[in-house]
Formats: sequence, structure tokens, C-alpha cells
Amino acid sequence: MSEAQDIRNAAATLDAGGVVAMPTETVYGLAARIDRPAGVRRVFDLKQRPLFDPLIVHVASVSQAKRVTRAWPAAADRLAARFWPGPLTLVLPKADEVDPLITAGLDTVGVRMPNHPLALALIDAAGPVAAPSANRFGRTSPTTPAHVRDEFPGVDLMILEGGECQVGVESTVVRLSEGATGTLVEILRPGQVTAPDLADALTGLSGSVEIVRGGAEALRASPGHMERHYQPAVPLALVEGDRAMGDAVRAARERLGLGAGETATLTLDVDARIAARTLYADLRRLAAGGASLIIVRLGSERSGEAWAAVRDRLGRAASVVIDGG
Ligand code: AMP
Ligand code: MG
Repeated sequence: MSEAQDIRNAAATLDAGGVVAMPTETVYGLAARIDRPAGVRRVFDLKQRPLFDPLIVHVASVSQAKRVTRAWPAAADRLAARFWPGPLTLVLPKADEVDPLITAGLDTVGVRMPNHPLALALIDAAGPVAAPSANRFGRTSPTTPAHVRDEFPGVDLMILEGGECQVGVESTVVRLSEGATGTLVEILRPGQVTAPDLADALTGLSGSVEIVRGGAEALRASPGHMERHYQPAVPLALVEGDRAMGDAVRAARERLGLGAGETATLTLDVDARIAARTLYADLRRLAAGGASLIIVRLGSERSGEAWAAVRDRLGRAASVVIDGG
């Protein structure tokens, strides 16, 4: 079937209140039209996602983004111009029409324009969609169509096949608020777009710009972003510092109450972007390989802004952190 026909079928499925798995540059998403409550509900059901975890609205233009928001500060224009289509979600006051189911009852909505031709074609045809990652809640996000199929065995789910995701980890999420003196940019979830990238894009904006990295408050503001998330099917041990690997494996097995068994080692590329691109596929491959433990070292050479997203995801995916020299 032709790609245009696939898009028409997918748009028809969404129009009928159905759900479609779509590729984006970050991870595969499970999409429903924002004006089809049955579809949105099915997204939560399929994922077994708690209703307190909001979905990101995906748009194909800035004008669509303005329609789902009630305020569009100058900073939003700047960031959209620089990073859209791309892996940056803007959290802004929601428009009244946006279904509270999508925003988990919050007064804000997360919105982004994905950088993938199939996602954009689908949204052009169907209108804005609400889409979380196409995986069971709490698990590793899918970065290939095969991963999506593995997440939903036996489910009759239409999947738009768009190859391997090029970013590989979920979007950077920032909340924008305008005060009397300027703009506050809170990073609720790190991603490929970093704090220095944001600062650069906002240079020269009138008024002050404050960029803060999310802490505990950000976790409350971004309810789905829990401490335990992105977990592979086999426990992951994260090794910080330069403890010898054999020693770290023993410590991890003991702390997790695992007996003897095979341990698989995840090796991260030296380039943070490449490490992010292959992270989830590597975790899935290693989890399926028969080992009872996956171990990864995240040394001090892999720190700084460029590594924030990979560090964040590994930190949440890990069942145990082994540190010390
Ligand atoms: P995903 O699982 O990649 O769809 O991630 C969606 C995540 O984006 C949620 O779990 C939240 O952390 C964040 N998010 C979406 N909408 C909002 C919102 N209105 N306010 C704060 N965070 C949001
Ligand atoms: Mg997710």
C-alpha cells in the first residue's frame, strides 16, 4: 500500500475514535485525536497508564499550537521557531476546549511539533493528536515498529512504519510562565534540547529570562515523570564512579537478591546523541538475551548538559545504583 493510502487509513481510524501508533523522531507514539474522547480513553487503557499522567498534544503548525493554548508568550514563538519541528514540548496554559482527560486535569497543556514526515502528514490529515509513548506504562519506550508490536501482543493496532527513531529519547519538556519582569523556563524533563540550547534561543528576548532545571517541584508539575520509569524487562544496575565491574556486578546481584546468572553489559557510545539514539533498543535487546541483570557504567566523562537526558532515563530505568570507587 502507498504511504498516502496508509495516512488516509490512519486518519480514518483516528476520525472513528481509534488509536494509531505513529513514528516521531523521539520515540513511537500512541495517537488519538484530541477531539475524540473515546480514542484518548483507549490510549490510557492500552498503556495501562494512570489518569494523572498527562498526554502531549502533537501539532503540525504553530497555529494549531496556539489553538490548544490560552497564552502564547514571546518565548514560545522563539522556541518554536528554533526547535520545531523537533524534540521540545512546551507546557502552557491550556485552551478551554482541550479535554481535561488529556491534561490529567491540569490547567496546562504540553504541546510539540514532531520532526517526522509521517507524523506531520498524519496530523495534517487528522488534526492535532494526543500521544504518549507507545509502550505499557513504566516500561522502555519503543524506537522501532517491532518494539511497538512487542509492547501490545494480540492487540489489533495500526502502526505507521517510519523506521528507527533518530533522537531515541523522549522530548525535553519545559514549562513557560510569564511574570511581571520576564519569562521563567522550567525544564520538567531533560531531552536532546539542553538548557544552553534554550538560553541561546532566548537571547535578546525582552525582559529577563530565567532557566531552571526541574527538581522535586518539577516532578509534581510533570506528574507522569516518576522516579521509576522507562524500566526494561530485566533489572538494570547503574554503576557510577569507577568501581571495578566484577565488584559492581556482585554488589548489584546482592542488593537485588539475584542469585548467580548471566549479566549483560550495556556500553554507551562516547557521543551523547548517539548513546541516546540506541539506548532503548539496546536495553530491549539485552533484556531479551537471557541475562538476569543488565549493567551499565555511567562515568564522570559522561556528564554535563549533553548527557542530562541519558542520565535521567538511566537513573529512572535502574533498579539499583552502585556508586563509590
Ligand atoms: P510521554 O510518556 O513521552 O508521552 O510523556 C508525557 C509526559 O510529558 C508526561 O508524563 C509529563 O511528564 C509531561 N507533560 C505532558 N503534559 C504536561 C503538562 N500539562 N504539564 C506538565 N507536564 C506535562
Ligand atoms: Mg512514556
